[in-house]
Amino acid sequence: MPKTRIARTIDKLRTRELPTPVEVKRTFIGGGIGCGCSGCGEVIGGSERAYYCRVGDVVLPFHVVCHETWIRWRPANGSPLVGEASLES
Ligand SMILES: [Zn+2]
Repeated sequence: MPKTRIARTIDKLRTRELPTPVEVKRTFIGGGIGCGCSGCGEVIGGSERAYYCRVGDVVLPFHVVCHETWIRWRPANGSPLVGEASLES
């Protein structure tokens, strides 16, 4: 069975491909613009709602469900994660 968007977002958090949500400076909500989700990696279609989170100098797009997963996720040991954020265009 293919992994769900939530499962793939958690995978990225565990492997530290995603920065922690505490690093977010601003969040915008809007429609999908066909870019890849920073959580699950799937394209956010034009008919879907998306969150755009500014972290440092980059903006990370997320599906609504992936954003929800991301902001609620906490590392098991409670220590902050440090990750490199990148945008795929
Ligand atoms: Zn997603």
